[in-house]
Amino acid sequence: MNTSFLCEVAQTFGTPVYVYDEAKIVENYQRLKHAFGKQDVKLHYALKALNNTTVLKTLRNQGAGLDAVSIEEVFLGLRAGFEAHEIMYTPNGVSFEEICEAVDLGVMVNIDNLSILEKFGARYGANVPVCVRINPHIMAGGHAHISVGHIDSKFGISIHQLRHITRLVTHYNLNIVGLHMHTGSDIIDADVFIQGAELLYQAAASFPNLEFMDFGSGFKVAYKEGDIVTPIEQIGKKIGASFQAFCKEYGHELELWFEPGKFLVSESGTLLVSVNVVKQTTSTVFIGVNSGQNHLIRPMFYNAYHHIENCSNTDGEQKLYSVVGYICETDTFGYDRLISEVREGDVLAIRNAGAYGFSMSNQYNARLRPAEVLVRDGKAHLIRRRETLEDIYRNEVEIVEVEQLV
Ligand SMILES: *Cc1c(COP(=O)(O)O)cnc(C)c1O
Repeated sequence: MNTSFLCEVAQTFGTPVYVYDEAKIVENYQRLKHAFGKQDVKLHYALKALNNTTVLKTLRNQGAGLDAVSIEEVFLGLRAGFEAHEIMYTPNGVSFEEICEAVDLGVMVNIDNLSILEKFGARYGANVPVCVRINPHIMAGGHAHISVGHIDSKFGISIHQLRHITRLVTHYNLNIVGLHMHTGSDIIDADVFIQGAELLYQAAASFPNLEFMDFGSGFKVAYKEGDIVTPIEQIGKKIGASFQAFCKEYGHELELWFEPGKFLVSESGTLLVSVNVVKQTTSTVFIGVNSGQNHLIRPMFYNAYHHIENCSNTDGEQKLYSVVGYICETDTFGYDRLISEVREGDVLAIRNAGAYGFSMSNQYNARLRPAEVLVRDGKAHLIRRRETLEDIYRNEVEIVEVEQLV
């Protein structure tokens, strides 16, 4: 989305506003879908990245399923038109009651804890097929910086507890139809990734009823020029081939699943903000914008880099700035950024804000969450209204003093 178009969007819908390019979401979905050579893959979109119903419908039209991490996300998916069987529910640390609720809805449950697996076995036995989340503990050295399911992770059942899993399976007659791993780390190197996959292939020998394997996500996207990204096609072909070899050995074809979040929606999104103040201090020039960590927390929370452009003055002289939010915290979007000369009132575009942007936003400082806009066929459509003050106190309850009877 070019800067003059974004200026128009800012004018029409006001700022701050999240703008998503639908075509980019579709392009990335199709790219990933076809990256695995002859091996077909099923993509379950991890909706925690961006859960606007219109975006969910876009991905559903492409053929995606969903990966939900809470029962509320399951309900959002159902509401958007996904069938229960198209949803995988991968919670961590939730109550057994919530898991039962998901079973009642008919979604596939992915269990990442032995105590829950035992309860599940006692309650459902062979009646409800289930998936288990394995932590393979692969640590890659060198420059790969991949720590796949490290030892301190709270996620998954350790691969070293495989024997305990099979004990529960035998005793409760559990029907394990899927093995899952999601490391949360970036996949950059196919060989490292395949090392993790191979541990799952070996584990598969203990589960004769498998129907799918789910390798989670970790598809890295570029946030700035020169960033290492996942070479999807290259990695995909290797993983596809390794999976086909595994299926041959296993004895029948399994489905290969992934759960991309960031890869599908990050690049599509831009957060548009307006410049409130240009403030020269002794150390830098601060650009103060009408947004902050309440709307996009990734720079502050993960030290994430988001490219920033001045839409209102694209040909201006490049100058060095620190772009900060209006929250009473040190909420810096970017230090020492070269941006074409910024004036008060200009509109800035904060790029790659589609994933974990709006979905992690909050109302700190009693600020309203921004509007969301989707660009479809070159036209901008409002897909979520900006909040109003009432949204901030809506659920408050006043204490009503009952008059004392004497
Ligand atoms: C968050 C999450 C994902 C998506 O991760 P991305 O880095 O956004 O692709 C996939 N699977 C599970 C279980 C998750 O928790």
